[in-house]
Amino acid sequence: MSGAAACGAAVKADGYGLGARDVVLVLAGAGCRDFFVATWGEAAAIADLAPSIAVLHGVRDADLAAARPGNARPVLNTADQVARWRAAGGGACDVMVDTGMNRLGLSAGEVASGLIDGLTIDTLMSHLACSDEDVAKNAAQREALAGLGSRGERRRSLANSGGIALGETYALDLTRPGIALYGGVVRDELAGAIRPVVRPEAQVIQRRRVRAGESVGYNALWTAEADTEVAILNIGYADGYLRAFSMGAGSAWADDRRCPVLGRVSMDLTAVDVTGADVAEGDWLAIEYDLPAASAATGLSQYELLTLLGSRYDRVWR
Ligand SMILES: *Cc1c(COP(=O)(O)O)cnc(C)c1O
Repeated sequence: MSGAAACGAAVKADGYGLGARDVVLVLAGAGCRDFFVATWGEAAAIADLAPSIAVLHGVRDADLAAARPGNARPVLNTADQVARWRAAGGGACDVMVDTGMNRLGLSAGEVASGLIDGLTIDTLMSHLACSDEDVAKNAAQREALAGLGSRGERRRSLANSGGIALGETYALDLTRPGIALYGGVVRDELAGAIRPVVRPEAQVIQRRRVRAGESVGYNALWTAEADTEVAILNIGYADGYLRAFSMGAGSAWADDRRCPVLGRVSMDLTAVDVTGADVAEGDWLAIEYDLPAASAATGLSQYELLTLLGSRYDRVWR
């Protein structure tokens, strides 16, 4: 869907919670060369695996010592960062231009005034504020980026996952998907093209019968109307399985049987209804984690659902 553009990968926030090193190994093996991280710490963590790394937060004074691995470069966002990079000797960099998001980036006026002239610019980029919506701002941002004359950059980049779905006129030389690589569906055009890749599982620590009239969990939020078979799973909000999944908003699967969450998710444990299911202590249940559906059920974004995944999971690649 990126047309003739190269396709990079946003692997910030530990590869959106999946584990950046494993993600980079898989994507580099699939031919991806350009990786985007937020910080120099994240760059260092993948520097031996990634051919080319762009650090989106740019370069602060405190980063100068770390901002030297040959395969990583800052994305310069402010006039101070540009000055700091020049003073430190320059070298390859990227530049972020703000075209209307008002988050990070130089203004078009700063670029027009010659602020970045003479830098060794690999990629001149901007970022879309509303790529998951059909709004005029998308084309306006694309045109604002196009309106910057050439600044000697090697490439231009604009599209994140949603931007790729907006069409080839957004792809330019290099696209920067993140969420779509990890199973997120942020626009309808992507629905047929994206498969889930994250499948959390949890293990049954105890199975119990809860008699009619008894309650389950903190604050006794759920009371059994009939005798109910309950499995207590070893997953909770400390694993990113937030309390938004409480009271049936979330569920687990025992083979083809849906097992709704009962009561309130606690820090390390979640109760599910396994009445009629062949589930025993020690069994593993699949946690329902279809990203668009889970987002609708919890009010958490698909991005949050991934980056919340905590450090207690074994991340098993199949
Ligand atoms: C996070 C990020 C991306 C990836 O965005 P997705 O919506 O996850 O595809 C691309 N570019 C920049 C500048 C980002 O911060």
